[in-house]
Amino acid sequence: MAGLDNLYREVIMEHYKNPRNKGLVDDENYKLFRIKNPSCGDDITIQTYVKDGIIKDCRQMGHGCSISMASASILTEMMIDKPVEEAKKVVEAYLNMVANKDYNKKIDLEEAQVFSGVRNFPARIKCASIAWVAFKDTLE
Ligand code: ZN
Repeated sequence: MAGLDNLYREVIMEHYKNPRNKGLVDDENYKLFRIKNPSCGDDITIQTYVKDGIIKDCRQMGHGCSISMASASILTEMMIDKPVEEAKKVVEAYLNMVANKDYNKKIDLEEAQVFSGVRNFPARIKCASIAWVAFKDTLE
């Protein structure tokens, strides 16, 4: 995408080509949530396993554009081993960042920082958000 920092674009393409934690598991301990983004054809399912308030595993499956696929991949990598309460704060900060709203800059968005440029492309905000919104719903 033109306008995104080169390094950020590289990280996004790397996750797009080598998605982390891809593929769902058949285990009733996991909670699953699926979201589609008709405007872009993105279709993402997130699966999360929480035990004792800690996210023990986070899986992703689906298809779509490079932004949506990379954001799902980065999400799963970041969330594994995080306490649920911390994960919710990270998700909130991330969703506000990509939507160009105020967010708590003390919260470490780690590799998800690469999506900060999406705010300049309103049509892609949903692409960068759906995996994270689906993940949030698995925690409800
Ligand atoms: Zn998309």
